[in-house]
Amino acid sequence: MDLACPRLVFDRTILTEDASFVIRPHTASSTSKGIANAFALCKELVERQTLSESLENWQISELDRGRSLMNYGQGLGGRSQGR
Ligand SMILES: Cc1cc2nc3c(=O)[nH]c(=O)nc-3n(C[C@H](O)[C@H](O)[C@H](O)COP(=O)(O)OP(=O)(O)OC[C@H]3O[C@@H](n4cnc5c(N)ncnc54)[C@H](O)[C@@H]3O)c2cc1C
Repeated sequence: MDLACPRLVFDRTILTEDASFVIRPHTASSTSKGIANAFALCKELVERQTLSESLENWQISELDRGRSLMNYGQGLGGRSQGR
């Protein structure tokens, strides 16, 4: 089972780590995804002028990261079952 949130930013509140994406276990990398979410947030907060700009950019990159990992996990799961 996978879960992908379509949005991660709600004004000043964000969904991150497993609260944003629950990836099937085949990738064994949800912990590093969570850490990458946090590093990306730090980078955006340092580099952008405003909080809303930081969060907007962060949401784009982290939705992409989560969806890529989910697709990878689905591929691994499918192959392990001969699909
Ligand atoms: C069996 C198993 C094996 C796994 N193996 C791997 C692996 O090999 N490699 C890998 O990368 N990932 C693995 N994962 C996934 C990894 O554990 C998670 O992706 C990671 O822990 C997510 O971190 P998180 O901080 O988002 O959530 P969590 O680690 O779940 O932390 C959430 C915390 O919030 C607390 N909490 C919940 N509700 C409240 C509340 N209302 N108030 C206060 N606190 C609250 C919980 O008690 C918990 O401590 C595995 C997961 C499982 C279940």
